[in-house]
Amino acid sequence: MIDPFGRAITYLRVSVTDRCDLRCVYCMAEDMTFLPKRDLLTLEELDRLCAAFIRLGTTKIRITGGEPLVRRDVMQLFQRLGTRLGNGLNELTVTTNGTQLAKHAQTLAEAGVRRINVSLDTLDPVLFGQITRWGKIEPILDGIFAAKAAGLAVKINAVAMKGVNEDQFDGMLAWCGEHGLDLCLIETMPMGDINGDRTDQYLPLSIVRSRLRKHWTLEDTDYRTGGPARYFDVKETGRRIGFITPMTHNFCESCNRVRLTCTGTLYMCLGQDDAADFRSVLRAGATDAELEDAIHAAIARKPKGHDFIIDRRHDKPAVARHMSVTGG
Ligand code: SAM
Ligand code: SF4
Repeated sequence: MIDPFGRAITYLRVSVTDRCDLRCVYCMAEDMTFLPKRDLLTLEELDRLCAAFIRLGTTKIRITGGEPLVRRDVMQLFQRLGTRLGNGLNELTVTTNGTQLAKHAQTLAEAGVRRINVSLDTLDPVLFGQITRWGKIEPILDGIFAAKAAGLAVKINAVAMKGVNEDQFDGMLAWCGEHGLDLCLIETMPMGDINGDRTDQYLPLSIVRSRLRKHWTLEDTDYRTGGPARYFDVKETGRRIGFITPMTHNFCESCNRVRLTCTGTLYMCLGQDDAADFRSVLRAGATDAELEDAIHAAIARKPKGHDFIIDRRHDKPAVARHMSVTGG
């Protein structure tokens, strides 16, 4: 699948639920309303759609949400997709908040998952409770260690927020080094209404990086994971640190991905509203060939890039839907 700008689209991110057991301040409002279950694609529908993408050249699938591991029976989807590894699919992975990870780490590994991302914005239990509004950190740490024990490579994702966790990253980098984990920092993106002022939270990672350089030697590396992060080797720990900078850096040029929501809507860009509805295609009884035609038609509409500009005067998010809808 080649889009109109010559980019090969090989990476599909699939949100399997909009629900979550946490309410991270940058992601959701506290009183989020979630979709009725009937609006969600079934696990069979998700698998069928993923299979069509794989036939058309998708080599990497990331399962996300909402919190993917709170969806009932989601391990069945991992098991089914896992059978496609080596048959077109090269990598099956997941982004999780870790609350349910201790329970599922072994099953994920057995399904063929090799690397996972766990979102954790601080190691301070009190601050963690504040950022997630009610989360407890211990089950997440247990989940991370269970994943390591199951043989999964774990990358910690942290969203950098001004005045919230900006003093946490030296400690997190050291902790990640101690436990053999990579760390990836992410700039906050203006997505969805969160009952708060986003312009207050935004912290450019260029500032964070120069602060980290006071204590750590960050060496350039060509390492890539197929995502938008720019990585550095951390000399003192032997691990890596990545920076995802959608706001300060145009990360669209090498975009290789599209995103499927739990209702079967395909967003060709995280930062644009154009979308294609696959639920109606599936439920109208499309044949495999019709499904593939619909996918090609959607890829042909992939825009050049996002346009994240926070509307400061009206304090509106640049994109109305929450990250938990599109999948981060
Ligand atoms: N619940 C899972 C988790 O937290 O890892 C998966 C879904 S979550 C939406 C995926 C990622 O998006 C997380 O790393 C989260 O920190 C990030 N995220 C959510 N809202 C964001 C925002 N407004 N800006 C930047 N990153 C955001
Ligand atoms: Fe839930 Fe992940 Fe959003 Fe936090 S970032 S509220 S864990 S979906």
